Amino acid sequence: MPSSRNCPTARRFGRRALLSFSLALLAACSDSPTVANPLPSATGTAPKPVTTFAPMTADGTELPTETFAEWQARFREQALRAHIRPEVFDQAFNGVSPDPAVIAADRSQPEFSRPVWEYLDSAISPTRVRRGQGLLAQYGDVLAQLEQRYGVDRQALVAVWGMESSFGQIQGDKSVIRSLATLAYEGRRPAFAQDQLVAALQILQNGDITPERMIGSWAGAMGQTQFIPTTYNSHAVDFDGDGRRDIWGSAPDALASTANYLAASGWQKGQPWGFEVQLASGFDYAQADASLRKPVSQWLAEGVRLPPGASLPAGSGNLQAALLLPAGYRGPAFLILDNFRVVLKYNNSSSYALAVSLLAQRFKGGGYVVGTWPRDDLPLSRSERIELQTLLTANSHDAGNPDGIIGANTRKAIRAAQQARGWPADGYPTHQLLQSLRGQ
Ligand code: CA
Repeated sequence: MPSSRNCPTARRFGRRALLSFSLALLAACSDSPTVANPLPSATGTAPKPVTTFAPMTADGTELPTETFAEWQARFREQALRAHIRPEVFDQAFNGVSPDPAVIAADRSQPEFSRPVWEYLDSAISPTRVRRGQGLLAQYGDVLAQLEQRYGVDRQALVAVWGMESSFGQIQGDKSVIRSLATLAYEGRRPAFAQDQLVAALQILQNGDITPERMIGSWAGAMGQTQFIPTTYNSHAVDFDGDGRRDIWGSAPDALASTANYLAASGWQKGQPWGFEVQLASGFDYAQADASLRKPVSQWLAEGVRLPPGASLPAGSGNLQAALLLPAGYRGPAFLILDNFRVVLKYNNSSSYALAVSLLAQRFKGGGYVVGTWPRDDLPLSRSERIELQTLLTANSHDAGNPDGIIGANTRKAIRAAQQARGWPADGYPTHQLLQSLRGQ
């Protein structure tokens, strides 16, 4: 799987489209080279296979220079060279045509994003917590075996399950072959989609699932774990022993596959994900940077405090931690440890990892945030973020490519502009900063 250079998040359903930019906005760059299900806009590494000047749409997207049938014939040869049997290919592509809804989703760039507190409100709703607690009891035996085999805590497994597919209830309803064929033919990342399509054909050839039952999101994230096909091939597990890795229909297979992925990503059993903290007045907010890690004990010596009545999770004093301010200095603060970074490898968004972590904690009766969210401070819209980036760069604070995605470069530029104004340098994009830059 390709690296996710803009710290993207995987957003797989139309209902989640509005989330995508707030998540991208808050994404913490992980060192991870892979994520289980990267954002459709995360760029593949291979170059786009274009041979001539291609016509473009109004937004600059290149249109295909060949018909779908021509593309399919060409791709069939490529698949056969990758050892896909002709009959497997022909059965999978029987009656397949491009899906306009997939193209619409691939090209959509939502203007407005959802604040992190609203995202968390729905991600860790009382209904989801109760349902997860019920499933922890129902699958207690399976989860105990998974903890033993993979060393991944059961609450984390069920939390990921809840976040990815509402515990298997929402897996997407699109044909994975049709979606990926559409994206390979005319999506924004054709090389990535082609790789996924070959992997999907390998899954069919292996006999794990039939083409009709191979369903997922418009972006090709599949089943209860929302694995993309290459992640499936590297990490899916047949845990119930029927000889098929069925992440669609078998909860034990789905939970084991998630456990296998988290274990391979470095999960450490029993270690806390992190914990909420409070910051002394005058604290240097520029230290809230995913790449700045120090032992918990050092943070505590430098003005980071536990909320009243809270105690330090056992054994965490010597662990490396980074400071996370998901809504800037006015909102709650967290110290995040290694297992938080492991969750980012599943889905590279700090909002997602926070939701998984708090949900897992809430299954055990905790996970309530003490700090208050700045609910009067709505996130910038996409065009405002682009304007902010453009103005930052024009004012000698290089924010990189003005793409509306608040990545490491933009954060650095925001900090510099905040410092120049004597403001708390939390790197968080606000209307206040945008207005100040407009006035210059
Ligand atoms: Ca199975």
